[in-house]
Amino acid sequence: MEDERRAAVVADLVGSFEAYVAEHRVCDGLAGRIVEVTENGARWGVAWVECSDCDVHWERRLAV
Ligand SMILES: [Zn+2]
Repeated sequence: MEDERRAAVVADLVGSFEAYVAEHRVCDGLAGRIVEVTENGARWGVAWVECSDCDVHWERRLAV
């Protein structure tokens, strides 16, 4: 993937992630991470947020 498009994809992923983190930043049960994984030869950016206080689990993966 070309750098410009990849940067836009990553920015989108990070933006969604940060929105969730902001929403639950007062919660004790907040956990989340953004990782890059390789599966079947493809690279994925995976963002996840989990809040045990609110029973929320969000995950999004995008090809990068
Ligand atoms: Zn919460």
